[in-house]
Amino acid sequence: MQNLTKSNTNKSIPNISSPTPAIFFDRDGVVNIDDEYIYKIDDFVYVNGFLELFKECKIKGYLLFVITNQSGIGRGYYTLSDFLKLSDFMQEDLMKKFSFCFDKIYFCAHKPQENCTCRKPKAGMIEQASSEFNIDLASSYIIGDKESDIEAGINAKIGTKILFSKVAFKKLSKENSKYEDNKISKADFIIDNLYKANSIIKVLN
Ligand SMILES: [Zn+2]
Repeated sequence: MQNLTKSNTNKSIPNISSPTPAIFFDRDGVVNIDDEYIYKIDDFVYVNGFLELFKECKIKGYLLFVITNQSGIGRGYYTLSDFLKLSDFMQEDLMKKFSFCFDKIYFCAHKPQENCTCRKPKAGMIEQASSEFNIDLASSYIIGDKESDIEAGINAKIGTKILFSKVAFKKLSKENSKYEDNKISKADFIIDNLYKANSIIKVLN
């Protein structure tokens, strides 16, 4: 029989098996400004409000993931190595700024016509994250700038879907319809700037 030391009888050991909620960020248009098939470090510019939101989500206790369709690889517009180089740059830059970065970056390199299981609106990337991390999906959020992000969130049973789109937001205010009844998006929230996401995302206990 093993001798129990003081440290491993400590009752305050956290329950590492309890699932943690996550924030799933689309990349182009949410993390960085979407200028069609971004793959060069020089063209990588953070979206206004992203860095503040990213920091807040970490403080609030969420796991942080990128889930991004990168068909530019499959289409031959840039290479897998270009994508990985830019991902490394982004992670190192976040690390320098905050001493943390995304917990993992998930990407789909396929062309739409390849009909893979990972390309959003399919749930493959989120399901993969869920198999690698212990994620409480119902308490998780997805933030994307396209309806396919919202649909991926629905398909993966993510609790809260946030559409970040100035165009959709404008349409919504014009339509002046009740938020829940709008036909613009299946999202739970439509926002026109990322700072608004901060007040939507709850602080974890
Ligand atoms: Zn794919």
